[in-house]
Amino acid sequence: MSGVAWHYVIKFIITGDAAVGKSSLLVRLTDQRFLANPDPTLGVEFGSKLITIAEENKIVKLQCWDTAGTESFRSITRSYYRGAAGCLLVYDVTSRQSFTNARTWLADVREHADPHLTCILVGNKVDLCTPSSDTPASANRSREVSTEEAELWAKEEGLLFVEASAKSGENVEAAFETATRDILGKI
Ligand code: GDP
Repeated sequence: MSGVAWHYVIKFIITGDAAVGKSSLLVRLTDQRFLANPDPTLGVEFGSKLITIAEENKIVKLQCWDTAGTESFRSITRSYYRGAAGCLLVYDVTSRQSFTNARTWLADVREHADPHLTCILVGNKVDLCTPSSDTPASANRSREVSTEEAELWAKEEGLLFVEASAKSGENVEAAFETATRDILGKI
């Protein structure tokens, strides 16, 4: 692979309700850090990252677009979706409302995006319901959407699915990698 900067460029969009952690997932992916109190007015809109899909021997440049504040408009314009091959549909595992609203976001994606788009449902903030040694009693208290329920819905809708945490970094890169493998499989 000498001399090859990357083999593919893949555009991803990140969608879902406000405050589910879309910007945080993007910052975690591209910058390996987490901001507990991000400034909402400085929403990250774009980030890129090179990943290697080892079994395909391919280097892929991910170009990721966050909806950055446009959630309030509900429907996002077609130009935002143009050229996207992947979508992270994000909800917060501690917010049932955000999971319910994921249906609306999916409908929007289906209406505007390429019908072949690969979509992965991402249940973010799983760190808030993971037992830890200092807070064993609070484990799972904050979870409002079970893994099983989300997995079932994802299957019904033909979505990939993962639970992740922008805070701990768990499954963040894996979410993009899983979707990228699926996209490469369609090429
Ligand atoms: P966005 O509006 O969907 O882009 O959400 P943000 O990335 O701005 O995050 C909203 C709030 O949730 C911020 O206070 C973040 O620090 C917090 N947050 C984001 N991801 C996580 C996570 O994985 N775990 C926890 N505990 N908090 C998170």
